Amino acid sequence: MARYELYGEDGTADREQCPRCGDTFLGEYGDRRHCGKCSYTEYL
Ligand SMILES: [Zn+2]
Repeated sequence: MARYELYGEDGTADREQCPRCGDTFLGEYGDRRHCGKCSYTEYL
């Protein structure tokens, strides 16, 4: 199981998937999301 640092306070993990990788979730870093696999970055 991969570890993710950010989860919603209600226990659900509403994460966006990377549009490039498809099978990779984007990590949330303040006002942007970042894929650690392909370095795709999405600004919110
Ligand atoms: Zn990616």
